[in-house]
Amino acid sequence: MSNRINRKKYPAVFIFMLTGAAFVYFMSCFINIAEGCKKISKDIISSEVFRTVDFSYDDYKMLYYYSTDKNGIKQLEGINKSRLKNIVYDNMYNVVNKTKEKGSRCPIIFKYIVSDEVYESCFSAYFSIMNDIRCFPVSYDSDNKVGIAYEDSWGAARTYGGNRIHEGTDIMAGNNERGYFPVVSMTDGRVEKMGWLKLGGYRIGIRSESGAYYYYAHLDSYAQGLKEGMDVKAGSVIGMMGDSGYGKEGTKGKFDVHLHLGIYYGEDEISFNPYHILKIVDGFKMEFQKY
Ligand SMILES: [Zn+2]
Repeated sequence: MSNRINRKKYPAVFIFMLTGAAFVYFMSCFINIAEGCKKISKDIISSEVFRTVDFSYDDYKMLYYYSTDKNGIKQLEGINKSRLKNIVYDNMYNVVNKTKEKGSRCPIIFKYIVSDEVYESCFSAYFSIMNDIRCFPVSYDSDNKVGIAYEDSWGAARTYGGNRIHEGTDIMAGNNERGYFPVVSMTDGRVEKMGWLKLGGYRIGIRSESGAYYYYAHLDSYAQGLKEGMDVKAGSVIGMMGDSGYGKEGTKGKFDVHLHLGIYYGEDEISFNPYHILKIVDGFKMEFQKY
């Protein structure tokens, strides 16, 4: 007896099998969707994909409203909320795709996968930080034309003090001269921490009203009179760029002169990648002011 005869004789069996297979397929889709939801709603803000959001050049241009004063200096006025919403949405869509690679397939459209609640919490994290920031953390040296440079090194391996990842962006001084570049606060906020850390050297931690924490490390010196508990305004000098750290208090010269900037958010102090944010505010440097 051949299969051909079987098919002719029992078509209902094959239809039943096909229906069964389709049922199993759709059920597995639903299970995957549910699994995807679980993965995405859990710790979305701490996911690497979310924290390392990339912005296109158009995004950079369109994200902030700014004005230009009579001297041609650009001032950040506020953030384009709807534009940011789109970027966060796109970024979360990428999170979904990455999750898919890890085996959690989400064959239906995005809005079924990420709940409004998760979306809102992501958006508010981004909005808090981007709305805090008003300027680049290092002054522009208009007279001497010494430049600064930085690249995206968030997540790179670091070994001093044990294996860890680089939770920030290093802004290097073109002349490698300690005490040359003024470091300014990117935000309004309160000085929460000052003093020596073995890793960070002379550091300052500033807490903004949104709850985000801005960490400036390896300073050569602090701005005169600056103390813990003081309120600072965005753009005010908080210290001078240096190369302190990696040893007991006062250790300098273990690496090139740079500012290490870290940005942390939320109760768990999740580390954000400052690189993309720095790119956005690169055009908003304060005038060089030495003291
Ligand atoms: Zn660093």
